[in-house]
Amino acid sequence: MTRENRLIGRLLGPAGPELSCERCFEELDRYVQLELSGADADAAIPGLRAHLQGCSACAEDHESLRALLSEQGS
Ligand SMILES: [Zn+2]
Repeated sequence: MTRENRLIGRLLGPAGPELSCERCFEELDRYVQLELSGADADAAIPGLRAHLQGCSACAEDHESLRALLSEQGS
């Protein structure tokens, strides 16, 4: 494999497991709690951020859950 091919494979290949909306929904609560606590939510739940970037429905859920949980405070 040439150097170029490897680079392209890295750009196109999935960064982690592909998440479905259903799985995203299941993990979103935990993900937001990790985010708000300053933990590495992306490492804990790989693929979720990528899903949010590609799925506006889940991105909206993420935004509202985040707003809700941060309002509730510590
Ligand atoms: Zn989704």
